[in-house]
Amino acid sequence: MSFKICTIGELLVEFLAKEQNQRFDQTGEFIGPFPSGAPAIFADQVAKLGFQVVFFSCVGKDAFGKMCINRLEKDGVITEGITSHKKANTGSAFVTYKGEDERDFIFNIPNSACGLLSFNHINENLLKDCNHLHVMGSSLYSFRAIDAMRKALDIIKNKGGTISFDPNLRKEMFDIQEMEQSFDYIMEYTDIFLPSENEVSYFAHNNGESEEQTMKALLEKGIKHIVVKAGAKGANYYGYDEQNNYKSIHVDGYLTNFVDPTGAGDCFAATFVSLMLAGFSVEKALQYANVSGALAVSKKGPMEGTSTLIELEKFLSHNSMKSKS
Ligand code: ATP
Ligand code: MG
Repeated sequence: MSFKICTIGELLVEFLAKEQNQRFDQTGEFIGPFPSGAPAIFADQVAKLGFQVVFFSCVGKDAFGKMCINRLEKDGVITEGITSHKKANTGSAFVTYKGEDERDFIFNIPNSACGLLSFNHINENLLKDCNHLHVMGSSLYSFRAIDAMRKALDIIKNKGGTISFDPNLRKEMFDIQEMEQSFDYIMEYTDIFLPSENEVSYFAHNNGESEEQTMKALLEKGIKHIVVKAGAKGANYYGYDEQNNYKSIHVDGYLTNFVDPTGAGDCFAATFVSLMLAGFSVEKALQYANVSGALAVSKKGPMEGTSTLIELEKFLSHNSMKSKS
C-alpha cells in the first residue's frame, strides 16, 4: 500500500543532565546536543522503517539546526519543509530525571526558531502525495503553529487522508492556552489516537470513569483506533474488528535495558501508525510498536533509539521466548 506521512512541529537540540535528580538551579554537567523534538523523533522513526515522511519545522541558521537537519536527512526524512531562519536560534530543551517516570524539562520552543513556524511554511507542493498527518499536542505551542497544523490537516482531510494524534502533554507546557483549545478541533478529525496512560483522565467525561469507558466514548464519537501507552507496562488497544465488534488488546512491555525514557512514545506512535497504513494487522502493528518503544528506552538520547524494521524483527525473534505477552 502506498502512503506518505506528514508531520509538523518542533525540531530542537536536547541536553541531558548527567546525574539523577540533578537540579536546574545548581551548576552541573549535561551531555548533548542531541537532535530532538517529538514530531522530529516521530518522523525519524517512520523514515527508519523505510516509509516516506515529510517534516515541516523551523531551525536557526546555526550549528544546532544543521546538526538536526543532517541527522534527519541521513535517516531518510524529507527535509525540504524545514526552514533555516537567520532571525532566531534553534530551539532547545534541558531534561533531568527523577526516577524512571519523572522528568523535568526547561523548554525553549515558542521563543526560538520553532516559534517562527507558521501557515506560510506549509508548502502545498510538499503535501501533494501525503495522505496522513500525525499531530503532536506538544507542537501546538503557539497560534502560528496551530494555524500551520490546521492548514495541513484541512488539506489532508479534504483529499480523504487520515489523521493520528498524540497529545504528548508536558506539565511545563500546560499554561499554553491555545494548545488546550485546539485539542477539541484535532480530536474531531482524529482516526488514530495515541495518548499516554496519564493523559487519559484529561479526555474523560466523568470523574472516576475507567480508561476503557473513556476510550469507548471516544470510539463512539468516530475515532477508529486508540492505543494507550503505558510505559514499562506496555500498551492497551481499543477499537473495532472487521465485523464491527468492539475489541481491546493488551500487550505487556518487553523487558529491556532501561536507559532513557524520552522518545519512547514517539517511536511507538510512529511504528504503530506506519504499520497500520502499510496494511499490517492491528495485532502486529501493536506488537512492533511495543518493540519500538522498548528499544527506544534502551538508548541514551531522545532520537538515538529509533529502529529499522530489521532491528525490530531481530528483537522480536530474540525475545519471543522471554516476552510475557
Ligand atoms: P512520553 O512521556 O515521552 O510522552 P509516552 O507516555 O508517550 O512517553 P510511554 O508509555 O512512556 O510513552 O512509552 C511508549 C511505549 O514504549 C510503551 O507503551 C511501551 O510499549 C514502550 N516502553 C516505554 N517504556 C518502557 C520500558 N521501561 N520498558 C519496556 N517498554 C517500554
Ligand atoms: Mg508521548
